[in-house]
Amino acid sequence: MATTHIHAYGTEAATAPLHQLSIERREPTAHDVVIEILYCGICHSDLHQVKNDFGGTMYPIVPGHEIVGRVTAVGDHVTKFKVGDLAGVGCIVDSCGHCAYCQEGEEQFCQNDVTFSFNSPDKVSGGHTFGGYSESIVTNEEYVLHMPESLDLAGAAPLLCAGITVYSPFKHWKVGPGSKVGIVGIGGLGHVAIRIAKALGAHVAVFTTSASKADDAQRLGADEAIVSTDPAQLAAHAGSLNMILDTVSAKHDINAYLSLLKVDGSAVLVGLPPEPLTVGAFSVVMGRKSLSGSNIGGIRETQEMLDFCAEHNITADIELINMQDINEAYERLEKGDVKYRFVIDMASLKN
Ligand SMILES: [Zn+2]
Ligand SMILES: [Zn+2]
Repeated sequence: MATTHIHAYGTEAATAPLHQLSIERREPTAHDVVIEILYCGICHSDLHQVKNDFGGTMYPIVPGHEIVGRVTAVGDHVTKFKVGDLAGVGCIVDSCGHCAYCQEGEEQFCQNDVTFSFNSPDKVSGGHTFGGYSESIVTNEEYVLHMPESLDLAGAAPLLCAGITVYSPFKHWKVGPGSKVGIVGIGGLGHVAIRIAKALGAHVAVFTTSASKADDAQRLGADEAIVSTDPAQLAAHAGSLNMILDTVSAKHDINAYLSLLKVDGSAVLVGLPPEPLTVGAFSVVMGRKSLSGSNIGGIRETQEMLDFCAEHNITADIELINMQDINEAYERLEKGDVKYRFVIDMASLKN
């Protein structure tokens, strides 16, 4: 298969810093779109996979699945994009297309062979996929999103993972006017979740361990901000929430949050704590409560989310960095020292 060499940033080992390297992208096939990457968000899972925290990382790894750019070429049979269009690529770049979940537009649950944007076997080119810390990407048009022209592109990049990760459960659990939603944690996911839940019409209560972030929650649009380390503040909200979106990836007591749900309420995990959670039976039995989880969203719903965010002018709060500063950004991300998402200005790769 014909390929082109391009510049990218990645690493050959879990312990080595990211650095510039050369990767190959396939020449576009009939249904492919070639996108010059303008911005790429830094998701916490980039860092986890670089460090092989989940196991199975294939090196060299080029992370990045919050990709926005402009179409520079299209295959002969592409109908959805033309040269010059804005385009986005999120977590999913291919799937079987025919299983029950793909048919329903929930490719993230494909039962056969979903292909993720990086660190996934590449069934077209062989080898494994390389993500958005690169000059360009070549993706089947069915997995490419239309980026709204009205949104700030750098701020919109994180919507492609963080945005859909929080939007999809809000839709699944029917958050809207009249719902009272709790959002646990204000970070890359939580801060976007506040904006989306408000735009859906919900009453939003935010739970954070940090008093300074509680102030920020209100700036982001939350109706209430609760310091979760204060038992009296938590108790004041007992039995009041229809749904809780738990974005925390560190160890924490889920039972304390389950007590805040109304009867039939659901707590939904989108963060990934490394250790199993301990759930007391009484926490769910009393009040017929559910503890659940959600994983990104399908392509159709991702487009719906982007259009919704355009309508409500929702983007992420970002710190724009140069590609060369990636290792420092990773160190800060590990400490939670970013408000609230790093985005790479991919023009810097040419410096
Ligand atoms: Zn992500
Ligand atoms: Zn499938």
